[in-house]
Amino acid sequence: MKDLKSIQNLIEILEELPSIGKKSATRLALSLAKDKFKALKLANAIEEVVSKVSECKECGNFSEHEICEICDNPNRDKTLAIVETPKDIMIIEESGVYNGYYFVLNHLDDENLQKIREIIKNKNIKEIIFAFPPSIESEARCLYLEDKLKDLEVEFSQIAQGVPTGVHFENVDINSLAKAIKLRFKISS
Ligand SMILES: [Zn+2]
Repeated sequence: MKDLKSIQNLIEILEELPSIGKKSATRLALSLAKDKFKALKLANAIEEVVSKVSECKECGNFSEHEICEICDNPNRDKTLAIVETPKDIMIIEESGVYNGYYFVLNHLDDENLQKIREIIKNKNIKEIIFAFPPSIESEARCLYLEDKLKDLEVEFSQIAQGVPTGVHFENVDINSLAKAIKLRFKISS
């Protein structure tokens, strides 16, 4: 269908998005072609996210400012939860049981370790909470981080079970996650 090249193009772009297959992409593209007002609203919203949102320079969370509102709030608890993705921050914030700071650890490298050290120092952090979904890899990552940061005067803890092994936070009900944070346990070294 040469005549519908632009729709074809939109379908292909939509298909590249997470959890959108060919069927949904086609349905969405056709519905957007039909409802021009909705389509422009969507285009505008996407443009706004692209131009306004970037990563917080301190923690890696999404923010419309250089420093996100969590890092910028001096009244939060002196704890630092290390998470895997900005989405985990959204989910934990929604649970309402945690009022400390966060750090998004997308990969283990010296730059991230340095950033964690700076947060600990600047925010006077007393406790680091490893808030990874339980798995063998995250266990190894906790041990590695603990070893790299053991010279600092902080306690280490890990969220409790209640979050099933190998299951990501977005698939865990909020009560289980809240319980896992509340019942976090100290890691003795
Ligand atoms: Zn931040």
